[in-house]
Amino acid sequence: MNNQVFQQVLNALAERRREDEREEQRRRREVIEKCPEIGQLMDARREAVLKSVYSAFSIAPEEGLAEKVERWNADIKDLLVKSGFSADYLDPVFTCAQCEDTGYTGTGKKTLCSCAKALYASLLEEEKGFEDSQDFEHFDLSRFPDNGPTDKKGRTQRERMRVFRDYCMAFADTLPHPDKSTLLFYGGSGLGKTYLLRCIHARARERDIPSLCITANQLIRTARQAIFSREQEEMDALYETELLLIDDLGTEPLIENITVEELFNILNERQNAGLCTVISTNLSLEDLQRRYTERVISRLLNRQTCMKLFFEGIDIRRL
Ligand SMILES: [Zn+2]
Repeated sequence: MNNQVFQQVLNALAERRREDEREEQRRRREVIEKCPEIGQLMDARREAVLKSVYSAFSIAPEEGLAEKVERWNADIKDLLVKSGFSADYLDPVFTCAQCEDTGYTGTGKKTLCSCAKALYASLLEEEKGFEDSQDFEHFDLSRFPDNGPTDKKGRTQRERMRVFRDYCMAFADTLPHPDKSTLLFYGGSGLGKTYLLRCIHARARERDIPSLCITANQLIRTARQAIFSREQEEMDALYETELLLIDDLGTEPLIENITVEELFNILNERQNAGLCTVISTNLSLEDLQRRYTERVISRLLNRQTCMKLFFEGIDIRRL
């Protein structure tokens, strides 16, 4: 079993449970807003149960508590139906009823649930696609046109890609202390930015350099989750991993007080700690500045630490 992939399964399951919990809370609020009486019944029920728990060791438990709770449960179900909800609307929420999103079934000897196995298989497949073909060894320069327009330095698209590939390979081979700690790939789509990013990721892993490759979208999702659930581990990894590769910057939602702030914090802390970051984006430098503010971009594109590679030419997916 691939531990890294299995860890991803556990993370996905944990995220699923957090989502379940959020949905339960949302339903509770929705119900109480529509029918405050249900809220009162739930409060009474919780209070009685808590009181009996606290006093269990000192005095005899309250007579008839079980019957009382049963009556409250029945009353709540009645009110739910009368208010237009299903009777089980406030029951625990699960994506997988078999394992209740724990990933394991059975009591005593636990076995991996079929939902976790399926998740593992699909992640492993993704991971394999990642490792098998997206590395420098499979980098095929002949896919880039060697005729057609040249850049300012008179290089064809293929010649420029050769220079970029060699630069990125040197970067990956000298981790954790390459010449520049930050790389920015910018330019249109279909020019090999993501591929090159993954090549660096693959080489870093080969060399046992801790490396995380995520899309900007995943990054912002992780940041948002960390804020709402107070679970910092994944976020810490983004701050601390030796190499962080952020793909597709500019496609993530621009959330007030999160996107720009988080991005600045991550880049700033990583640069201060001398850690390496690679970013790819389809945005132009002007668009980057407009979207992420001067403060973020001047941090990111700091001449001493950042190498900018501008990708131009023909979308090779169309060839
Ligand atoms: Zn399951």
